[in-house]
Amino acid sequence: MFVEQIKVGEMENFCYILACESTGRAALIDPGDEAERLLACLNEQELQLQYILCTHFHPDHTLDVPDLREKTGASVAMHEADIPLYEDTVDLTLHDGDTIPIGEEIQVRVIHTPGHTPGGVCYLTDGRLFTGDTLFVGDSGRTDLPYGHRPTLGASIRKIMELPEDTMILPGHDYGPTPTSTLLQEKRQNINAEEYGFLKP
Ligand SMILES: [Zn+2]
Ligand SMILES: [Zn+2]
Repeated sequence: MFVEQIKVGEMENFCYILACESTGRAALIDPGDEAERLLACLNEQELQLQYILCTHFHPDHTLDVPDLREKTGASVAMHEADIPLYEDTVDLTLHDGDTIPIGEEIQVRVIHTPGHTPGGVCYLTDGRLFTGDTLFVGDSGRTDLPYGHRPTLGASIRKIMELPEDTMILPGHDYGPTPTSTLLQEKRQNINAEEYGFLKP
């Protein structure tokens, strides 16, 4: 499995390339900006874009999605609860527990984590959790934007904290001291751990 973290745009957004090395099939998670650069990265690795996986509908994560969809023919996937809030086309409606196959090697599990938006999701594959704006390194997503709900986000984060502690988290923004982290590290260091009830002393 090939995974690459790419910072795009002006809001420290992280986009990810996830690819099956035996088939060259790939997914982009949250290609919010710099579509041309992302296409160049895919071409350089000789990857064929199969899916565009959105963690949620916000423009900093989805701005270049329609352009990439048109240029590559990839299917855009989003959770059903965010689709009414998103103004462009979605090809694949996601639900909690869905599995998305990428090539032969990769199965991506959809975990519904509402609170930042109603249809926010995390994507889990092979010990890696792509957390969007649900959980950052050292912090968690805003709940003061329209459709945000703080107790719901707390419940979502407690749900993902039930995964193995060595699960690597790959967030939607570079807001922390390091670009990635683990659930264990977040249980110990996240600023919201006590409030949301997942603190591990
Ligand atoms: Zn957001
Ligand atoms: Zn964001």
